[in-house]
Amino acid sequence: MNAPAAAIDWAAVRADFPLLSREVHGKPLVYLDSANTGQKPEAVIAAVDDFYRHHNANVSRAVHALGTEATEAYEGARGKLARFLNVRADELVLCSGTTFALNLVAYSWALPRLRPGDAIVLTRMEHHANIVPWQLVAQRTGAIIKVAEIDELGRLDLAQLYSLLTPEVKLLALTHVSNVLGTVNPVREICREARKRGIVSVVDGSQAAPHRALDIAAIGCDFYAITGHKMSGPTGTGALWARREHLAEMPPFLGGGEMIKEVRFEGTVFNDAPHKFEAGTPNIAGFIGLGAAVDYLSALGMHHVEAREQALLDHATRALSQVPGLRIFGQAPDKAAVISFLVEGAHAHDLATLLDLEGVAIRSGHHCAHPLMHHFGVPATCRASLAYYNTFDEVDAFVAALNKVRKLLA
Ligand code: PMP
Repeated sequence: MNAPAAAIDWAAVRADFPLLSREVHGKPLVYLDSANTGQKPEAVIAAVDDFYRHHNANVSRAVHALGTEATEAYEGARGKLARFLNVRADELVLCSGTTFALNLVAYSWALPRLRPGDAIVLTRMEHHANIVPWQLVAQRTGAIIKVAEIDELGRLDLAQLYSLLTPEVKLLALTHVSNVLGTVNPVREICREARKRGIVSVVDGSQAAPHRALDIAAIGCDFYAITGHKMSGPTGTGALWARREHLAEMPPFLGGGEMIKEVRFEGTVFNDAPHKFEAGTPNIAGFIGLGAAVDYLSALGMHHVEAREQALLDHATRALSQVPGLRIFGQAPDKAAVISFLVEGAHAHDLATLLDLEGVAIRSGHHCAHPLMHHFGVPATCRASLAYYNTFDEVDAFVAALNKVRKLLA
């Protein structure tokens, strides 16, 4: 239903995104790859532009006016993001994105702690960014990895997942929302079960933060990772939220400037968290842009964003269900606006290439989720992912183009 979001002028929202009015191959662009990266509103582009034009300086190291302005704007962005996620700003480590955030947990929390015989639990639907760091940790510590499986709708099998949470499990890492299936996992309940058993939980929120009102404090996890470029913000921005007690105990991941209080050749006193984990010059302009993105999303209201995307998803799912030979991967009742599919007799890359010639941008491939592809026995799928700035007409144009190109491939 579109009703809760009806108060918003979505055509005006769309007009805020300059890129969406361009053409591709002589056709109006239909951008359906927002799970890969989101498009940016004028407000975000302007914030980055304004920083470089009027305020550019490094953060925290200069007492001059520009240095103060840059530092205030950068720390202001941290505060905005913290409020958006309902966490404390001093528990929010700013970094380049989810990949960095998960590696930070792997290297600073897991590597020093795990021992031979310990176990890490992952799920079948994880992105490689939430698999490979744990494999690297397992290789170096002698820990093993166990996998929670999914059912035919693409939901986690919770009974099987809980049966894996045995005493040797030290860490559970799972995605909040699957980038392939769209499944929204009940992370609050799962993290509560982990916590009851003394297991530390890490949630990959890459695909949740752009689409859902988040309350990380209420989830009850130990770590939560996000990436800014999928939230209408600039690339190279993201964050790790961690419980304060973990941040206090974790050794720094990277050493350098900014993360220290005092350096002598005999030894270094590290800065307090979160700065202890932010060595070197950060992506200042990027985070100022992310702050603007958070303002933009907050002004829309994440509940409106979610309702709008749900309506687009329902419309697209209905239309795609009419396409002969089309199979959708992931039909969980609680699902974000991501549709992975294959059409009988057509290779995913051929479909995506021909759709591109029609102006429709979808992704084809393994979506950095090889184990999920193996589960389905396919090398690749097509994936159309929707965002609040898409329109119902675009969904119709996509389905019409799909019907046209599938006939060419038949
Ligand atoms: N996890 C999930 C579920 C993702 O969709 C992505 C991005 N495709 C990532 C992790 C990695 O995010 P980033 O490349 O921004 O670090």
